[in-house]
Amino acid sequence: MEQHIHCLVNDCHYWSPGNVCKASEIIVATDKFAEAKPDEVDAKMAKQLEPTPAGSPMSTCCKTYVAKGSAKTTADAVTRTI
Ligand code: SF4
Repeated sequence: MEQHIHCLVNDCHYWSPGNVCKASEIIVATDKFAEAKPDEVDAKMAKQLEPTPAGSPMSTCCKTYVAKGSAKTTADAVTRTI
């Protein structure tokens, strides 16, 4: 079954109308982790990263987010599907 990630963050490179994420894959992390790691650390590295507890939904984020038009859209090897 095809899965969709629904997302309301419409200034992200991967966001599409209908509030669908078009990233080939994403990684969700704690805010603390995302702030500490560079853009290159993303979904492609998921299997080698240490999981950590967040404590609340307010402490999590999509680390795959990258602003539309940013020069960093290719930093993490995640691709945008059509
Ligand atoms: S990469 Fe993350 S922030 Fe960007 S559209 Fe997908 S779920 Fe939303």
